[in-house]
Order: sequence, then C-alpha cells, then structure tokens
Amino acid sequence: MNIAEAKSKVEEKGFLDIEVDVQMDLFVEIERLKKEKNAIVLAHYYVDGDIQDVSDFLGDSLGLAQKAQSTNADMIVFAGVHFMAETAKILNPTKKVVLPDLKAGCSLADSAPAGLFKAFKEKHPDHLVISYINCTSDIKALSDIICTSSNAEAILHSLPKDQKVIFAPDKNLGAYLNKKTGRDMLLWSGACMVHEIFSLEKIIKLKVRNPNAKVIAHPECEEAVLRIADFVGSTTQLLKYAVTDKAVEFIVATETGILHQMQKDAPYKTFIPAPPNNGCACNDCPYMKLNSIEKLYLCMEYETPEILMDEDLRLAAKKPIDRMLEISRAAGLLG
Ligand code: SF4
Repeated sequence: MNIAEAKSKVEEKGFLDIEVDVQMDLFVEIERLKKEKNAIVLAHYYVDGDIQDVSDFLGDSLGLAQKAQSTNADMIVFAGVHFMAETAKILNPTKKVVLPDLKAGCSLADSAPAGLFKAFKEKHPDHLVISYINCTSDIKALSDIICTSSNAEAILHSLPKDQKVIFAPDKNLGAYLNKKTGRDMLLWSGACMVHEIFSLEKIIKLKVRNPNAKVIAHPECEEAVLRIADFVGSTTQLLKYAVTDKAVEFIVATETGILHQMQKDAPYKTFIPAPPNNGCACNDCPYMKLNSIEKLYLCMEYETPEILMDEDLRLAAKKPIDRMLEISRAAGLLG
C-alpha cells in the first residue's frame, strides 16, 4: 500500500499499513527520527520490551502524564493506549501527539460509557467524582479529580472525611481504596479484563510450589487476589518493591510487560507471571500489545495517526487532571 492510500485508511485500520523493509535497523531509524523531529518516545511499562528499550521515558500513568506535561519536544510519540495519548494531548495541546495504533484502546475505559455515567452522576449531585486516569476524555470532563493508582490514596486524604465521593471506572481499585482509607465511596462497576482474569486457585498452587516467592499485585486485581498478596501497589511501586525487597522470587499479578523492567533492574531475581484462569496468555493486555516497533517507526516517520481533540472537551478534561497534579505535587509524589 502506498503512503497516500495508507493514510486514507488510518481511521479504519488504526495504523499505517505500510510494509517496512526487513533490512532496516528500526532502532537506528527511531533514534534518527527523534533527533530530526525533536520527538520524545514515552512508553508504558506494559508495552513490549523492545519498545521499552527504545523509549526516552518509561513509566506508569502518573509518571507519563507528568512527563507529557513537562517535555520540550515538538512531537510526543506515545507507546501505550489511546487514553494515555489523549491525556498527553490534553496537557500539551501545542505539541503533536502520535500513537502507533489508534485501536489501542482499554477495556476499563470502555466500561464507562459517557452517557450512562452522566446519568449516574446526576442521580448523586452531592457527590464529588474521582476518576481513575484509565478513562476516556468524556469521563474526565465529567470528573472533579483524576487519580492514578500511585496517588489515589493521597487524593482521598486531601478531601474532608465526610465528603461523599463517586469513584469510577474501576470497581476493584475503588473497593481496595474504600478498605484502605475507611471511606464508603460509591463505585462505578467497571473493570480491566487483564487484571480480572487472575486465578486465585492457580496463584495459591503456584505459591505452594514456590514457597519463598512473594505475591505482588496491582490494585485493579479482584479483592480475593489482593487479600493473599504480600504487597499491593501501582506499577511503579511494584517495580520498586520487587527490586528493593529481600525476596528473590516474586509472583507478579499485573500485566506481563512489567516483567521486562523487573528482570532488567534485578537480573538475579525470578519473576513469575501470575496465571490467568484459563490456558491462554490473557494477562497480556491486547491493547498495549497492538504497539509494535514497526508501527512506532511508521507513526514517527509519517506523523500519523495523530491525536486531535475538540478544544472545549480538552479544557473540561484538563481541569481534573490539573487538580490531580497539584495534589500529587503537594504530597511530594511528583519528581
Ligand atoms: S491493562 Fe487493563 S487497564 Fe491497562 S490498558 Fe490494558 S485493558 Fe486498560
């Protein structure tokens, strides 16, 4: 397919469907494009290892949002999923933001359709809305404060104890926060397909076979898994814990992409992905895995697919993100 044809089909396909010369060293090409276009590659921990290795900044949602806000680059290349690239555009509207594949969505974000959520919010006018960053810009625009799993507790602590709160869209993270903070937030019933798939029974069997292994889990996992975990934390917190803790074996209950960085930072330790409740590799996020090194190269070279946003929506969605960043800064959570 030629470039004009491929560009005309981006909406339909999600990416530029152009054959890449197999002889080309894409790592060298990506470095060249970074310099030529003053571009920065931001990558989430859940993308493939080769993309993590070529990124300028690797992080979780909070770190990526902060980096997207502070960068001087002219082009932000976001190796992650759509809501993350959208957040980068919301925070940095003058920059060009490109995403390797527009179809890299998120089952959690999809679990909160804006119309239904608006009706739910209107039924509870005395509630403040806190939304996890894994949501669409429409949901962000309906929220008072955005949070990530790194700063959610700090955000709740910054509010009066009697403040009524709706938490969306992740019911597991919401229930975990209710338990940890003693709050009684009203929870929207959304969930992430990757974090809901872990099998408690199989994790326990794995633990019996590896008695010295510690179970570490992301708070998007179901309550039963969190109950048996030795440590619960955001992706960055899990990485830090796995590297600094005395244990040398870990069963990791989150998306498998993080194992690449864990293994790099602690090569002498063993990291075992927690098993899903079926035979397939369903703890790989299918959306994150739509990113490939070829698509990354193509979106940098042709600056397509690009994230574009309606300005009113962008401004409405920015407000609760700014509040999150302010509270996080005051709590000393930003670097
Ligand atoms: S792992 Fe879950 S929450 Fe994260 S991007 Fe994938 S579907 Fe969304």
